[in-house]
Amino acid sequence: MTAAAGAFRVVEPADVAAATAAHAGEPGSRYLGGGTDLLVNLRRGLGTPALLIDLRGIAELDGLACMAGGARIGAGVTLARIAADPEFRARYPALCEAAAAVAGPAHRNVATVAGNLCLDTRCIYYNQSEWWRGANAYCLKYRGDVCHVAPQGRHCHAAFCGDLAPALLVLGASIEVAGRAGRRRMPLAELYRDDGLAHLTLAADELLVAAELPADPPPSAYAKLRVRGSVDFPLAGVAVALRAEEGRLSILRVALTGTNSRPFLLDGTDNLLGRPLDATVLRHLDRLVQKQVHPMRTTLLQSNYRRVAAAALARHLAARLAATPEAAR
Ligand SMILES: Cc1cc2nc3c(=O)[nH]c(=O)nc-3n(C[C@H](O)[C@H](O)[C@H](O)COP(=O)(O)OP(=O)(O)OC[C@H]3O[C@@H](n4cnc5c(N)ncnc54)[C@H](O)[C@@H]3O)c2cc1C
Ligand code: SF4
Repeated sequence: MTAAAGAFRVVEPADVAAATAAHAGEPGSRYLGGGTDLLVNLRRGLGTPALLIDLRGIAELDGLACMAGGARIGAGVTLARIAADPEFRARYPALCEAAAAVAGPAHRNVATVAGNLCLDTRCIYYNQSEWWRGANAYCLKYRGDVCHVAPQGRHCHAAFCGDLAPALLVLGASIEVAGRAGRRRMPLAELYRDDGLAHLTLAADELLVAAELPADPPPSAYAKLRVRGSVDFPLAGVAVALRAEEGRLSILRVALTGTNSRPFLLDGTDNLLGRPLDATVLRHLDRLVQKQVHPMRTTLLQSNYRRVAAAALARHLAARLAATPEAAR
């Protein structure tokens, strides 16, 4: 392909081993899922890989299975497929709600799970044309020396804005990763670090093979704040999983996206277990969220509004889930 994206070759490996071998042969190359993030960025001059490794022909990445012992979601499964799957909708509603809330229907038909989990971080000074960024002396994340959001520091605060990660985090997901050195499994949380420049912990040659979910998940839900009701990234996205036994919380997990450079599980919710979900607990939850989210001036919406909205979404989802018969045991 040529055009604004620059020239690159595309290969279509038949299996995971061939994909990682192709990467070894061209170390600066990039893995390609649906291309709805990567190709947009390349068109804006964000990156100049000589080779794209198109993973869409790899059958192993395309499996979607809900079994008695849990679920396995191939890295190449499309968001439309997950959002519409009746077994996943019944067992893992937060995941299906998050998948259905990504971009628009045409994107979801090609966008993949791995592409969503490995989405680049975003910032109003970064997701711009080459001309715009050049006119503003670029920035620390790509080609520049200064962060326009926090010019006194040397840290990039670009936000991770994928919708699926918080849902998978509250559902207890782990991931399988493959590279030239072999395969490994890890909790999804370990895929991320809080650094807008390098938010993924994968080695350059590693690719995501699948995400796995435990069986018997607690009831869950996902909601996001966005400027437009459709086709918009989360300015704050929240997933909650909750169970109560005899009116007292036995599971409470909250995860967030869109506010920090990584999606993360909220710390401190275990201290609320054993209590009924009353106004005091909801106030406590609100404080936990407001303390741990760090929205910066990376979007047009005010940071403090995003902080308050994230806390409100967490309270709202927790109260809504606690009121459902499925949450009680
Ligand atoms: C207008 C618009 C609106 C959008 N709105 C949203 C939104 O609301 N919410 C949201 O979450 N996203 C949104 N997106 C971003 C994007 O569409 C989705 O995140 C999508 O899920 C990305 O998946 P993909 O397969 O297209 O990724 P790609 O673009 O193919 O890849 C994205 C990144 O993941 C890497 N990658 C792909 N597959 C693998 C793998 N198997 N292993 C390791 N790395 C891999 C790529 O190298 C690249 O760095 C939007 C995009 C556009 C253009
Ligand atoms: S947070 Fe700073 S360094 Fe990171 S993309 Fe934005 S302006 Fe660039």
